[in-house]
Amino acid sequence: MMAQYLALKAEAGDCLLFYRMGDFFELFFDDARIAAQVLDIALTTRGEHDGAPIPMCGVPVHAAESYLARLIRAGNRVAIAEQVETPEEAKKRRGSKALVARQIIRFVTAGTLTEEALLEPRRANLLVALAPVRDRLGLASIDISTGRMELEECAAADLPATLARLAASEVLVTEGMEDAPAGAIARPRSSFTSETGERLLCAAHGVATLDGWGSFTRPMLAAAGGLLAYLDHVGRGTLPLLLPPTARAATGALFMDAATRASLELTEAQGGGRAGSLLAAVDRCVTGAGARLLCDDLSAPLAQRPGIEARLDLVQWFHADPLIRADLRVALRSLPDIGRSLGRIVAGRGSPRDLGQLRDGLCEAAWIAGLLSPRPDHPVLLRQLLPALAGHDALTDLLARALVATPPTERGSGGFIAPGYDPALDALRDTSGDARRAIAALEARYRTETGIGALKIRHNGVLGYFIEVPARHGEVLLHGEGSFTHRQTTANAMRFNSLTLHEEASRIAEAGGRALAAEEAHFEELIERACAAREAIAGTAAALARIDVAAGLAERAGEGGWARPGLADEPCLTIIGGRHPVVEEALAKAGERFVANDCQLVPDDRLWLIGGPNMGGKSTFLRQNALIAVLAQAGSFVPASSARIGLIDRLFSRVGAADNLARGRSTFMVEMVETAAILSQATERSFVILDEVGRGTSTYDGLALAWAVAEAIHATNRSRCLFATHYHELARLAESCEALSLHHVRAREWKGDLVLLHEVAQGAADRSYGIAVARLAGVPAPVLKRAKGVLARLEKGRAETGGLAAGLGELPLFAAALEAAEERSDALRERLGSLDIDTLSPRDALDLLYELRRLAGE
Ligand code: ADP
Repeated sequence: MMAQYLALKAEAGDCLLFYRMGDFFELFFDDARIAAQVLDIALTTRGEHDGAPIPMCGVPVHAAESYLARLIRAGNRVAIAEQVETPEEAKKRRGSKALVARQIIRFVTAGTLTEEALLEPRRANLLVALAPVRDRLGLASIDISTGRMELEECAAADLPATLARLAASEVLVTEGMEDAPAGAIARPRSSFTSETGERLLCAAHGVATLDGWGSFTRPMLAAAGGLLAYLDHVGRGTLPLLLPPTARAATGALFMDAATRASLELTEAQGGGRAGSLLAAVDRCVTGAGARLLCDDLSAPLAQRPGIEARLDLVQWFHADPLIRADLRVALRSLPDIGRSLGRIVAGRGSPRDLGQLRDGLCEAAWIAGLLSPRPDHPVLLRQLLPALAGHDALTDLLARALVATPPTERGSGGFIAPGYDPALDALRDTSGDARRAIAALEARYRTETGIGALKIRHNGVLGYFIEVPARHGEVLLHGEGSFTHRQTTANAMRFNSLTLHEEASRIAEAGGRALAAEEAHFEELIERACAAREAIAGTAAALARIDVAAGLAERAGEGGWARPGLADEPCLTIIGGRHPVVEEALAKAGERFVANDCQLVPDDRLWLIGGPNMGGKSTFLRQNALIAVLAQAGSFVPASSARIGLIDRLFSRVGAADNLARGRSTFMVEMVETAAILSQATERSFVILDEVGRGTSTYDGLALAWAVAEAIHATNRSRCLFATHYHELARLAESCEALSLHHVRAREWKGDLVLLHEVAQGAADRSYGIAVARLAGVPAPVLKRAKGVLARLEKGRAETGGLAAGLGELPLFAAALEAAEERSDALRERLGSLDIDTLSPRDALDLLYELRRLAGE
């Protein structure tokens, strides 16, 4: 057995091997240690290997799914080795001591799940493959549970941002890839080629060319190759549901890097989990598929106007008609997840229940098509979606006739084909029904014949049907005239058989077996019919999801009094009465009111510097405007009384290091790396929010950096920007930066207490109220008193010597610093241009590097 085990384990590689033995999946060696720890089950031993006991643990087959779920969640992959013959077959073929043959029938990995129990209903589950081709990367992503596949390409530098957007459960890379993302699975290079990709895609879809689906680049196809080869590997040759791939345009989405996503808490709060995220505050979808699509939308808001307007039109249509919206949402609420049912069916793991869900879902879709029947005021998107809802009549009729009302999840014991669908099946069922009735009649007859009122005919898995009498009556049957043959004596009873009973029981068994076979044949055929309509069904599921998203957003807008954002061509961001949806919801729960604020960024007043006390609401204000922009470009109404937004190409959000102490790297280093990324990437069409940047270092350093960063964003990037800071000294930037203006969150001291008004107002903050905030926080009175004393001394000193603020007056003007930098880069360019690289010796090259560094001003 060990030899067979080890061979299978070699095939399983770094996956845990579930080795089927009877009613258990057993794990051995290190696999057993890992599983015992993750699952918190007993680790035992079995036999010896190389003189040492073999660690072992096991999970019962009937409960395997929940154990699998926990192992996968803990980051493992599992290979399932099943018995592929019965012990009898093994004996017949290879002698009495033969081992049952086993094979790996499937690999279960985080990115290739289809089981309802292992998937989260409101979250997509992506598998992504990366193919580096020179300095570009191809990415292929698929949600196996619904078959949706997308191919895209990005620059190597944008990979972290792209992966953050996709939030995949499993990432595949080519073997030996440099800078591979952590946790990625290395796969053979040979499959990551554009030829393989094209060939596998064509084969999977039975087409000769991919041209009909868009234009795919070589890196995209190479990634698709790696992806499909992996799917083939984990499915042992059975491919899951694959819809035709679509190419995602790089310019199609609002660009956000990983730090921005995390700090805005778009789909996940910083502590992890959905609660507290923008998604949670916005999501009113009533279907899992809708919630998944909304998550996609918020993760990748659009960057082009027509798509956004089309979505907004649809939301507005539902917003304007609460009655139809209510009816629609009731209908959607009872809609099964047909996309995922279809996914299981195509992957060969469908159950009668999945077919039942298709039937119910497609019927519901047809009903919704009727509800939304074409009207002249329909927005374009709805007109495009409606046809996808109908057209399944033949399939739904078939399923409605064929299936019982609630088909079981297990198909092994039959009972899912409806009466009346197949006369032959009905006859078989009648036969076994007749026989069952005959057995019941037999019991009554035997009771009268023997005079034993306690006689029963019973059934169990070992004996089948038998006649049972209490032990004290046993003698009567043992020695009686009748046709009873003794089978078993138990403590209290004796069991018998009779010829008639045997005949009836065989009738049941035979008819039952044939009925099962008939149901199985019908099942196969129904599955085939469903598979044949896979693309249309997936289209219906997608259309329903889009409708659910739009109706849910309309619902949310209605609840919160949200407004439709207007899109503008010039880079402005004018939000009147804006609110932070997450903070507002949290405050409302505590019975408090959120103070709405305006933000008015226009090209000649594009950078707002925001001061004011800690806890005054600066971060909240910054984020709410970024979130409003995300919502608008995702096609949602926004929490504001009005909003006008010039399309944003890239959105950046950074929080000063002190707020991020939990992270591993030197936090100030992280802060600066992230800031550097903004300075190199933000454009005139970008929107940047910077919260206390520079805080992670000493006061002077921090102030100097904050100063320089604000100047650069103002003069070089020219992005729209909200910059929150507690450095008063930055207010002096307003003197030199014409498109920068000063704002503050208002606070007032009243009878010695600090009152935070959470209002954003024009002008610089008068002072920082730090000590008043400390008092709010409960710092003891003697400490506050001492701090006040120290502050008075410091302020006096500053007034006399000029101190910090005066020192800043001597800083060279930003324009001058820029000129110096430009001169240096001109000199560098010239020197580089004059080189003849091919004639350089290694020694010359080294000297040259030193020279270049000198030119660059170190
Ligand atoms: P800061 O960044 O200035 O330190 P925050 O934005 O973190 O302040 O806000 C601190 C707290 O003040 C928030 O947790 C919230 O409870 C409250 N708050 C912020 N903005 C508002 C507002 N506009 N209306 C009501 N309460 C607010």
